[in-house]
Amino acid sequence: MSAVAPRHIGFVAFCTTNIAIDIESLVNLLNGAYPVHRFLHTYVGATLAAVGMAVLLGLALRLRVLHSLATIFGSAGLRATPIIVGSLLGAWSHVLLDSIMHRDVAPWWPFSDGNDLLGSLSMVRLHLLCLAGFVIGLVVFIVRASYRHLKDRLQ
Ligand SMILES: [Zn+2]
Repeated sequence: MSAVAPRHIGFVAFCTTNIAIDIESLVNLLNGAYPVHRFLHTYVGATLAAVGMAVLLGLALRLRVLHSLATIFGSAGLRATPIIVGSLLGAWSHVLLDSIMHRDVAPWWPFSDGNDLLGSLSMVRLHLLCLAGFVIGLVVFIVRASYRHLKDRLQ
């Protein structure tokens, strides 16, 4: 994400929001609780998780914790708008992809218990789609980093 639109999407925010949402699943798996995907795997819960993560990252930014990460992931990790956009995109894409993949996700709860996207893509296609997105993002990241490196050497 950050490699494609580095000034607008905070990569750290995107990743940490995804991790925070899946902590819910991990806790439920470890406790043998079903459904595994609950509140944080709804658009309402994921949005709240994104807002919480954006606030935490904003606090970390104020405490200068994130500055070392900015050298790795670019300056988008240091501004409010990319943090908010990255957190929200991470949250909503997480719910979207998990809705396709997992039977126990109710993405529109509390408005609906249904999940119309379940099985709309086969597991193979879904994983290939994610892999393609990763490869495209990696290639764009490498090209951009190479261009930046070359530009810095020529100045
Ligand atoms: Zn998940």
